[in-house]
Amino acid sequence: MTRPVNVAVLGATGSIGQQTLDVIDRNPARLRLFGLTEGRRSTEREADHLIQGQAGEGDFDARVEAMVTDPRCDVVVVAIPGARALAPTLAALKAGKVVALATKEVLVMAGDLVMRVAGERGIRPVDSEHSAIWQCLWGERIESVRRLVITASGGPFWAHPDLNLDDVTVEQALNHPKWSMGPKVTVDSATLMNKGLEVIEAHHLFGVPLEQVAVVIHPQSVVHSMVEFVDGSLKAQLGRPDMRLPISIALSYPDRLPAAVPPTRLEELSGLEFHALDEDRFPSVRLAREAAAAGHGRPAVLNAANEEAVSAFLAREIPFSGIVLTVERALAAFHGVGDTLQDILEADRWAREYVKDTSGRLRAK
Ligand code: MG
Repeated sequence: MTRPVNVAVLGATGSIGQQTLDVIDRNPARLRLFGLTEGRRSTEREADHLIQGQAGEGDFDARVEAMVTDPRCDVVVVAIPGARALAPTLAALKAGKVVALATKEVLVMAGDLVMRVAGERGIRPVDSEHSAIWQCLWGERIESVRRLVITASGGPFWAHPDLNLDDVTVEQALNHPKWSMGPKVTVDSATLMNKGLEVIEAHHLFGVPLEQVAVVIHPQSVVHSMVEFVDGSLKAQLGRPDMRLPISIALSYPDRLPAAVPPTRLEELSGLEFHALDEDRFPSVRLAREAAAAGHGRPAVLNAANEEAVSAFLAREIPFSGIVLTVERALAAFHGVGDTLQDILEADRWAREYVKDTSGRLRAK
């Protein structure tokens, strides 16, 4: 029998990190925890590398690089939120590792660069929608694809068209109807910016043009996404909204781990709904598409401005409706840069400064 797959988990204390550790614990014959990084909380675990701290603190970055490039490491799960995940992802890819990517910001910021470094190996998605699309594409040719269709639950506010988005509280925004996730992605789900980021993510992961990536509202979150083919056929992946499934597949591909999640009961699946996205009320997807099409650092600005605006909202410094407005203003004010890693990091820095300098004007009353 072959040895278990050695897995390094970047961001072990977050929601995806914790669920990854759970998947590893439940499959000791197949998976082994090789190392992890964690923020403040400490895990009582045995592993070759246990790294505490944050990017940029002390020798944290050097220790992470040593872990993800260690010859014994097989798979690196990237689940550090935000732009800080970019450097370790590139280090792991350059060392020839399989990367299971939960941090979509990496592809939003630097998708062309990251996919070039990944080459033929590609990247295994740990985002439920992209995992669904990946599974639908197994055995298919990309030339046969007409559209990728990303499903969106719509978040907590989609179903309440009369609700004034200026009045939304932090508690309301964090109360996601279907998925249990960290605060950043939960707020992104409420603004629909999560879908904007996911359109860009899908475009890079699967090499499909932006205009061939569609978004549809599906409140039940049972169909995790779909692929439409040139012959008119539509393939979907269905299941419970449980991140342990995409995590398991990313770790065990091409095998499937038994009982990764409880089975889906077909009799519970009646009444699946699909609705068009109202882009006037939720302009995030349009903004993301435009930023990605224009390029030259704009996707990095979109991402960084959104991260800073979400933080300001969670700190009760700006209203909910100020998040997308901030991103829109940052994109309008940005003049564009080149496409090197340096340029992308510069665009990221610019956007963060811009939001910090201007968010006072949006402060909640
Ligand atoms: Mg997702």
